Amino acid sequence: MLSNALPPRHESDSELASALARLWPNREHESSAVASLLCRIGVHYWRQLDLTEFAPHRNIRFCFWCSNIKIDGTIHKP
Ligand SMILES: [Zn+2]
Repeated sequence: MLSNALPPRHESDSELASALARLWPNREHESSAVASLLCRIGVHYWRQLDLTEFAPHRNIRFCFWCSNIKIDGTIHKP
């Protein structure tokens, strides 16, 4: 972890993001040059998965073209 100053909720979201990343291998190998450029400037191709059993009441989206995960509007890079 980067810092102890992070609030506990962020810490657990990072852990959640890491756990979810193992369930969702990213599709970087299917990405195009344009797609990876868009990801680099922060324009991600968010896909929503049904994770209500794994993380109920959370709004979780995965980028189809890179490893970013968005949890309740906050982007994580596991
Ligand atoms: Zn992306």
